[in-house]
Amino acid sequence: MSEKLKLENYIRPKLELPHNEKELLLHSCCAPCSGEIIEALAASNIKTTVYFYNPNIHPVEEYEIRKDENRRFCEKVGFECIDGDYDKENWFERIKGLEDEPERGERCTKCFDMRFERSALFAHENNFNIFATTLGISRWKDMNQINESGKRSASRYKNVSYWDFNWRKQGGSSRMIEISKREHFYQQEYCGCVYSLRDTNKWRRKNNKDRIIRGVKFY
Ligand code: SF4
Repeated sequence: MSEKLKLENYIRPKLELPHNEKELLLHSCCAPCSGEIIEALAASNIKTTVYFYNPNIHPVEEYEIRKDENRRFCEKVGFECIDGDYDKENWFERIKGLEDEPERGERCTKCFDMRFERSALFAHENNFNIFATTLGISRWKDMNQINESGKRSASRYKNVSYWDFNWRKQGGSSRMIEISKREHFYQQEYCGCVYSLRDTNKWRRKNNKDRIIRGVKFY
């Protein structure tokens, strides 16, 4: 059994779910982005189920590392971690024609839509009234783009809403790094899809930096 975290000294003000909800479905993209959020929810005694659904991650070896890291931390905190499908064929189908879009462009909107639509469906089918995502804590991401997608996905179901809490505030961004270091999380060096891997390597080449070596870097 993993050693449980000591959360009594946690410093973020206690979180409360909107509409007096008591239970949250948290879509998670990876351990570094979710670490701080999971700790904040646990310290606030909010019953949380983590939903790992990220068919965008390529290749499968990278997907497995990110998933295992996320699962490891959930176990430590005592949150259930649901393993969503790795239906990458559907992901490639969905973003067809958008392969050369830049990060934060239309490809990313479709990518968020796919992940949040499935999260909203899971919430609907499993009696969660509210879901959120860890994606917005990263400064690399466009928070409006994420929140619009989250709201759009939740609006498909009468009983499901999307929580657009700003995880970056109240020290969230810096604690995200502190926790990643403390837990020695795997440190991915590209967003996740094969196109982000291609474009990050392209940028590195241009800036005389080494190519990404997957699976070796930890905080
Ligand atoms: S860059 Fe990231 S968010 Fe955008 S499509 Fe690729 S994996 Fe999805």
